[in-house]
Amino acid sequence: MTTAFKYLMKYKLIDGKAISESIKLEVKVSVRRLFEECSIIPSLSVILVGDDAASKVYVRNKKRSAIKVGMESHIINFPTFVTSEEVLQQIRILNKDDNCDGILIQMPLPAHLDENEILCTIDPQKDVDGLHPQNVGLLSMGSASFIPATPAGIKEMLLRSGNDPKGKHVVILGRSNIVGKPLSNLLSLKGNGGDATVTLCHSMTDSLKDITQSADILVAAIGIPNFVTSDLVSPGVVAIDVGVNRVEDSTRPRGYRLTGDIDFEGVLPKASAITPVPGGVGPMTIAMLLKNTLDAALRKI
Ligand code: NAP
Repeated sequence: MTTAFKYLMKYKLIDGKAISESIKLEVKVSVRRLFEECSIIPSLSVILVGDDAASKVYVRNKKRSAIKVGMESHIINFPTFVTSEEVLQQIRILNKDDNCDGILIQMPLPAHLDENEILCTIDPQKDVDGLHPQNVGLLSMGSASFIPATPAGIKEMLLRSGNDPKGKHVVILGRSNIVGKPLSNLLSLKGNGGDATVTLCHSMTDSLKDITQSADILVAAIGIPNFVTSDLVSPGVVAIDVGVNRVEDSTRPRGYRLTGDIDFEGVLPKASAITPVPGGVGPMTIAMLLKNTLDAALRKI
């Protein structure tokens, strides 16, 4: 790494890890106060189906982070070929359990399970991932109960790094239910952290380059390594990389490295600010999940 590159990194990097640590500290303080004043310990239950290696790592990190801020966390791991009814039954048990504040279904689910039916069965008051249709609807109306963790993390990260989206043209690549669509709703709402003009792009978008070049803030959430190259952005762009892609790398002990959807080295010189992968949006997602779980527990008071 050249000295010039290190210099650019120092001044342009949006450090998601550092921002997420300050949010987790705030959550930890509130968790302690909740216990001291009301004897309540927030509890997060995560349902994992199958043995996908990446999902297992994500779930383990969520549990570890929850415990670090003083919460309880339980992982319920079903084998790949579990029936829908068994998963639904488990969710119903958690819905009735007063000690469970938040329920999260680790995505993706195996194809034989009906994702919609499963999400609809979660009590909306415990839907800390914000994916129940009631919470999706409330978000689009501007009165969200729970905002999905990744979009909430991106909004928080923009605000805390001095990149308020107000009045800016935000271009989002990817229209998934967990990132692109809720983020476009969130940033176009009236008020703090919103008021952006949002363009939501996908694989059928025509003249993508014209659109991305007009972005003040570009968010990439498509799952294609290094898709956003420097010719796709204009000078001064704020580049937010959601993508987490495993790319073969024989020099690494694990045989792969994680890379984002944005060509970091190519875009860095043009960007005014940029998030790294790892250490950008990922840690923010976990921090906001913990915040949602805390909020769910606070509603019991
Ligand atoms: P997804 O369900 O994988 O869908 C990909 C989206 O990208 C689709 O909307 C697709 O369009 C669009 N797309 C594909 N090729 C495109 C192209 N050439 N031009 C423009 N759009 C294109 O999305 P996701 O679940 O949001 O995941 C995206 C990435 O983010 C993955 O790498 C995932 O691992 C990562 N992720 C990270 C976090 C985190 O916390 N860091 C959280 C969630 C996801 P169509 O709809 O037309 O197919």
